[in-house]
Amino acid sequence: PVPVVAIDGTSASGKGTVASRVAAALGWHYLDSGALYRLTALAARRAAVGWDDEAAVAGIAANLDVDFAGGVTRLSGEDVGDAIRSEEISGGASRVAALPAVRAALLFRQRAFRRPPGLVADGRDMGAVVFPDSMTKVFLTASVEIRAERRHKQLIEKGIAASIAALLLDLRERDERDSQRCVAPMQQSADAELLDTTNLTIATAVAQVLDWVNK
Ligand code: C5P
Repeated sequence: PVPVVAIDGTSASGKGTVASRVAAALGWHYLDSGALYRLTALAARRAAVGWDDEAAVAGIAANLDVDFAGGVTRLSGEDVGDAIRSEEISGGASRVAALPAVRAALLFRQRAFRRPPGLVADGRDMGAVVFPDSMTKVFLTASVEIRAERRHKQLIEKGIAASIAALLLDLRERDERDSQRCVAPMQQSADAELLDTTNLTIATAVAQVLDWVNK
């Protein structure tokens, strides 16, 4: 089978950055599974479908016209890379992700990204649910304070105003919702390596993951 490296973790733990760099270093494909939930929330909003309308949102998830070619996230041909990162859509993603029918609809779409020579997938349930046979499973964490700071810096760099206090509150809420989820509890697989990035640079975190992959 095509090898998979699963990188799971909390919101803003740095897993997206670490996972995409690990994929680049290995020359493997990269799946940002959170983007699929974000795209689903955005598409639902645009279709005026409520984020709690399970059947309708699942239909949208199953039929999403997405494309990640060249590192650009497209929804029906339109570059929505920035639109799906807004705080509003982040909240919507976490809501639609709580619906079992939506998770089921996205399960097969996620598995379709597994192509030679290999896949690095990041999310909440990559190692536990989507790719349980991953060769390497990593669970990334960082203190909520440092995660709020990192997100703040990212937003400032994009010229978006944000308050650390609001981001902290938001992250805590999202952590809570993500951890109470019955379908895909955000938890470390028993066989996952734990990596706390609170005091690590991105380069060190990437080197550690590559070390585990090459072991
Ligand atoms: O990782 P990211 O922050 O982009 O994920 C957005 C939202 O999608 C998360 O808050 C989480 O609720 C959900 N998600 C999920 N399962 C995944 C990836 C993301 O439930 N594998």
